[in-house]
Amino acid sequence: MLAHRAPQPDRASKAVFAVLLTLCAFGSPSDAKAQNAAPDTTPVQQPAPTQEATAARARSVNLDAPVDTHTATAATAGGLPYSSAQDLQDSALRDIGSVGPAAQGQASNLPFSMLGAEVLPGTASRLAWQPGESFAGIAVPTPVLVVHGNSSGPVLCLTAAVHGDELNGIEMVRRVLYDLDPAQLKGTVVGVPIVNLLGFKRSSRYLPDRRDLNRHFPGNPNGSSASRIAYSFFNEIVKHCTVLVDLHTGSFYRTNLPQLRADIANPQVSAVAASFASTAIIQSGGASGSLRRAAVDAGIPTVTLEAGEPMRLQASEVEHGVRGIFALIDQLGMYRKLRVWGNPAPVHYVSRWVRADGGGILFGKVNLGQRVRSGDLLGTVTDPITNVRADIISPYDGRVIGMAVDQVVLPGFAAFHIGIQPKKGPEGGQTPASGSDGMDTDDEPAAKDSLEDS
Ligand SMILES: [Zn+2]
Repeated sequence: MLAHRAPQPDRASKAVFAVLLTLCAFGSPSDAKAQNAAPDTTPVQQPAPTQEATAARARSVNLDAPVDTHTATAATAGGLPYSSAQDLQDSALRDIGSVGPAAQGQASNLPFSMLGAEVLPGTASRLAWQPGESFAGIAVPTPVLVVHGNSSGPVLCLTAAVHGDELNGIEMVRRVLYDLDPAQLKGTVVGVPIVNLLGFKRSSRYLPDRRDLNRHFPGNPNGSSASRIAYSFFNEIVKHCTVLVDLHTGSFYRTNLPQLRADIANPQVSAVAASFASTAIIQSGGASGSLRRAAVDAGIPTVTLEAGEPMRLQASEVEHGVRGIFALIDQLGMYRKLRVWGNPAPVHYVSRWVRADGGGILFGKVNLGQRVRSGDLLGTVTDPITNVRADIISPYDGRVIGMAVDQVVLPGFAAFHIGIQPKKGPEGGQTPASGSDGMDTDDEPAAKDSLEDS
């Protein structure tokens, strides 16, 4: 186990500590799926810009068979089974009906190469990514969980805690990765539970230099610390993915209904988003420098799933996310789950924030998911000194997809996020699906004042 991962007890919340414990358990013999776990004692070396060093620092705890480390060569690129967008469209989005028992369990897959290690077909492993923007004494290897199927298929990547204080996604990754039987999987699922481990250990959204990692992708090997970390992550991990889901929560004391943010003008992105079923889709191109936008620009269909609020582990939000991810895995033809999420119609929204014009103590008067009409009271802001109260009124007909928790706010604070079903199709000319009212919509929290991914 990685002793350095344990936070200082006086600084770590119970939730954070629980997450660390569960991560440490990946590959543990105590887990039902973790047969024959190899001793986890190989030290992780500080990386150097050579292929040999890349191979040396990769560490694998293979659950079923030895993992061969090797010098990274073209074989790494060979880990990308789809070389063109059309291949992806044909393969990743194929009908689930083509995935029958007869098509599974064929030991026809090649080893999966990443981070200088090979994961053999039908096995699960834990690798380590280390960006190198550190020094040996405080080096922080970041766990990368891989489940590699017996049969070939898409490479679905799940990333969480790009913002280090957003915990729900960490638990989603754990549940999905542990619930997959590699013998039944077609393709590969890669989970990075805590991308921003430096921020996570400080319970911070940011990197130690206060930069937002999610504004520096795809990165620059010669840029700022954040840009270098982003560059390493993007090139060593993200470029292996054929589909990417980046997991977030609301930010800055705001909470979101589980929701997707996606550029549905992109047909592949739209198809991925729709696969989540029963989950609201917010049209958003993504902030410049966000992992989502950079990955889409690199040809990797990517959506952001936002659920809940930071600094908390929320069971219902986690469950929604896990079910949505499994619905996607099912739609990708990678895995057949017995449980089916009914009522699959997604709901497309555009969204607007409603701000507090006055400062003071904010109390919300609506609930997440509630439908509101123009003129409805959303909340109140009361000046604690003058006792002057200002109402926050919705200018829109829509649904509350994100909102601030009760707190003290300054004038201009973005307090309520309203999802609006467009009368015409959203950008890209698609007609919004007629949706169910029963399911929570997906909503990403705002980053600072913008409407971008939180
Ligand atoms: Zn976030």
